Amino acid sequence: MKTSATRPAALATLLPFLKPHRRLLVLAVSALVIAAAATLALPLAFRLVIDAGFAAASTASIDRYFLGLFAVALILAVATALRFYWVTLFGERVVADLRQAVYRHLLGLDLGFHETNRTGELLSRLTTDTELIQTVLGSSASVALRSALMLLGASVLLVITSPRLAALIALVIPFVVAPIVLFGRRVRRLSRQSQDRIADTSAVAGETLAALRTVQAHAREAYEAERFGAAVLAALAAAVRRTRMRALLTATVILLVFGAIALVLWLGARAVIAGGMSGGELGQFVLYAVIAAGSIGSLSEVWGDVQRATGAAERLGELLATDSRIRAPEQPVRLGPGSGRIEFDRVSFSYPSRPGVNALTDFDLHIRPGEHIALVGPSGAGKTTVLQLLLRFYDPQQGSIRLDGVDLRQLALSDLRSRLALVPQQPVIFAGTVYDNIRYGRLDASPAEIRAAARAAEAHEFIAALPDGYDTHLGERGARLSGGQQQRIAIARALLSRAPVLLLDEATSALDSHSEHLIQQALQRLMENRTTVVIAHRLATVLRADRIIVMDRGHIVAEGSHAALLAQGGLYAELARLQFADTGAGAARL
Ligand code: ADP
Repeated sequence: MKTSATRPAALATLLPFLKPHRRLLVLAVSALVIAAAATLALPLAFRLVIDAGFAAASTASIDRYFLGLFAVALILAVATALRFYWVTLFGERVVADLRQAVYRHLLGLDLGFHETNRTGELLSRLTTDTELIQTVLGSSASVALRSALMLLGASVLLVITSPRLAALIALVIPFVVAPIVLFGRRVRRLSRQSQDRIADTSAVAGETLAALRTVQAHAREAYEAERFGAAVLAALAAAVRRTRMRALLTATVILLVFGAIALVLWLGARAVIAGGMSGGELGQFVLYAVIAAGSIGSLSEVWGDVQRATGAAERLGELLATDSRIRAPEQPVRLGPGSGRIEFDRVSFSYPSRPGVNALTDFDLHIRPGEHIALVGPSGAGKTTVLQLLLRFYDPQQGSIRLDGVDLRQLALSDLRSRLALVPQQPVIFAGTVYDNIRYGRLDASPAEIRAAARAAEAHEFIAALPDGYDTHLGERGARLSGGQQQRIAIARALLSRAPVLLLDEATSALDSHSEHLIQQALQRLMENRTTVVIAHRLATVLRADRIIVMDRGHIVAEGSHAALLAQGGLYAELARLQFADTGAGAARL
């Protein structure tokens, strides 16, 4: 169930990810407190060096005081380094866990979810949103804590050192801080704009490079370069605006802070001359004032980070709280060795992204174990939908689908899908070796089994001719293979899986007759002893089928053998005339 997370609840989604790393957190906070204490002790050590050290005028005591000063600096250095290391590590570890959890969750969400959410946006949640959280956990949060501690400590010590000057500072602070905060906000807004423009340039470049064939085929290089140029110029303009504001901010900060310090120094110096205060005390006071001012500055800087990370946590929390609509029961029915009997019983279904429009209506189909079924029908008839429902990518609104007598909703998803081998119309080739790609069908297959599957899929010959044989990298989306070769890899993958049911979406594009012949042979082997449901685009396939199911607009309109259906005339005869006309000659030879 989707919960609409409120802000505190959004941060609470992070808690389970923080918990396993609480030891690191404790270490980091301890180092942070020590470092803050050392920073606050520095001005005190400084004062002692000035007042007592110089006054005593004996080198021995000067040595002692300087040694003390150095010791404080050493503690500060070590504690700061440890704080940095532990805090950063904490942020990195938490976010590594978070990324894995979000990705795993995304993989499990149903296709309906993925159809209504853009991949690009999900990817940005996985990278940008988690990165924001990492910034906060791994640095901003510690900066904020340290600054808050120092501000508190410095303020108290200011009052102790000189209540009168402290009161004066309290009066001056708002005049210093207000302009800085205001400027800071504008700088932040402008940097966000600048980030967005930069993201635009990568979007333009990414889109164009992915479609480079089309770009070059239309000779649109100059046009695309100009489009990118415009995006770059927009990013540049945003960067210039941000930089200008930032420069102005720097000048303002320096002027205001030094002005305030000069004012305090001036008043302090008069107090020293009048004898109300020692030189060391004044020095100590000024240092505390600088620390306090610096802390306020960094607090205002990290506040924006914290806000953005809260937004990011909110979005990730929503995502993690989204449940898949396709879920297995707590106690799934285990399938036996099973024969691959399939029953569709009065199934009606509409896609989640198009409710109200039925893709299948009252669909009834019983398939015997080992039977070969060919689905034919015009585009949009619902053939692909039948395969998608069998894979339980979606659940039907009415009726039931059973495998070996068990409703699909009673089965564990992995159990169900291990019974089904899918050969899609456009096979997916991953960036990896030939071995990796075929092994996807069954991860524990041995190299010998993979080669056997490739042989049976008529793929061995062309694989052996590749530069590194089975170890050849296929490149992104199998760019180095022809369409027919990709199909045979997909067939080998299905052969390897040993699933009793084969779901095949035949390629529509015509191949040369040699490839066609090889693929038909490979398919013949793949279909042996398997219950098969084929979306048929080839005459050879329908001739071979035990039963042809003719579909139109989500209904079965006729069924039978090729000859019987031809004799009936109607939709099938029409389809056969149009669809199988050009492949008929080649296929008839088989
Ligand atoms: P076929 O495979 O026979 O060409 P499909 O099963 O793909 O037909 O489609 C059946 C109907 O369902 C069509 O009207 C199609 O537009 C619709 N459809 C298919 N996939 C989706 C989807 N993911 N979301 C919404 N509608 C879909």
